[in-house]
Amino acid sequence: MRYVSTRGRAPELGFCDALLAGLATDGGLYVPQTWPSQPKMAGATYSEKAASLMAPYVEGEIPQDVFAQLCKTAYSTFRDPAVVPLVQIAPEHYLLELFHGPTLAFKDVALQLIGQLFDYVLTQRNQRVMIVGATSGDTGSAAIDGVKGCKNVDIVILYPHGRVSDVQRRQMTTITSSNVHTVAIDGTFDDCQDLVKAMFNDVPFREANNLSAVNSINWARVMAQTVYYFTALETLGRSASFSVPTGNFGNVLAGWIAKQMGAEIEKLIVGSNSNDILTRFFETHSMDMLPVVPTLSPSMDIQISSNFERLLFEMNNRDGAATTEQLSMFRQNGNLSVKPDQFARWIEPTFRAHRASDEETLAMMKSIHNESGILVDPHTAIGIASAEACAEPGVPTITLATAHPAKFPNAVKQATGVHPALPDHVADLFDRQERIINLPNDLQAVEAFVASCH
Ligand SMILES: *Cc1c(COP(=O)(O)O)cnc(C)c1O
Repeated sequence: MRYVSTRGRAPELGFCDALLAGLATDGGLYVPQTWPSQPKMAGATYSEKAASLMAPYVEGEIPQDVFAQLCKTAYSTFRDPAVVPLVQIAPEHYLLELFHGPTLAFKDVALQLIGQLFDYVLTQRNQRVMIVGATSGDTGSAAIDGVKGCKNVDIVILYPHGRVSDVQRRQMTTITSSNVHTVAIDGTFDDCQDLVKAMFNDVPFREANNLSAVNSINWARVMAQTVYYFTALETLGRSASFSVPTGNFGNVLAGWIAKQMGAEIEKLIVGSNSNDILTRFFETHSMDMLPVVPTLSPSMDIQISSNFERLLFEMNNRDGAATTEQLSMFRQNGNLSVKPDQFARWIEPTFRAHRASDEETLAMMKSIHNESGILVDPHTAIGIASAEACAEPGVPTITLATAHPAKFPNAVKQATGVHPALPDHVADLFDRQERIINLPNDLQAVEAFVASCH
């Protein structure tokens, strides 16, 4: 399998190079040259099924027995024997619990595997990389946990001082591995992101330090997320729609890819909070940028959904030049429109969308708790509200539960009056020793620190 860039001007790569590169050199995102159709799902456990479903994507690059072992190690960190259990909450409505990994959010499903893949590929090549990233909470903790045991990876994660939750901060700062460095920046999340971008744009610095990234545009993350759409449908035993609380569009794109591969998915329901650029796109066929407003579901407070570019590339019949043109117009005018025939062919048959305000999110958390005794986190609540708004008679819906309620205890308490307990495997989180580095919002200071981390 070869990988091509959505902007059409970067070299084609094999899986391992696409994994390490993340972003293509033309600024595009890597996608496989073709979607493998009807891959065989074999094996009894989640990790065996995962290895068989993803086999076509790594074929020729990683031997299948090695890949199966990497999957096994990655998913052994999940605390539920099913890895991602399916739970019924209403006659036609199910939750797919994706939060049983080490950091209690669905990002573990991809990042635990990414850690294994990086370690394998870098050991084979006798290379070492420095992963740098910015986080508003969930990505940083999942990335740190994914690579904390890697011999050939150092990781520096910047987060905005005082602006992530106590659980999120402690999941990063209590990791004791010597290759992990968590930095509190005196600034906002945007400042952290700007520092990371500036380090990548500083080419001599980037090359001298072998910088690498594992952000949500990395192909391997999307690939790992296609698996649970298949396993959930297998457990259910019939076709279904999926409701996906969405930020960067990575998780829902994985569903779309699973559908291309032959998964019997009816509709993909995109759930947004008040940062509803995607919902407005599905209503008006046009995307308009607006400033980000903070909500109770911070992991979905996003202005531009970077993974949407992969769908746009398909909508342009895989024409990289046309995709580049559309995106540069978007950057210039803040508006992206698609043609009626593109909408009719690619969007209308498959996607539905819904927006839930903070009020609706709290009301949903409360009513689910009253009716079934289940506590859900605010992101999952948006998925449930969207499923209810877009459900079709006779079609079951599977809502992706993207975080454990204990990861967002304040919102859960506000909605239900109940303080959600941390699960056993992280129950001592608040007793563990923290290790934090404080740095000013200053590129020179941050670069000097990163250079000292080898
Ligand atoms: C990251 C995240 C999302 C959004 O996922 P995308 O792939 O960016 O759409 C939703 N919920 C939670 C809890 C998250 O951490």
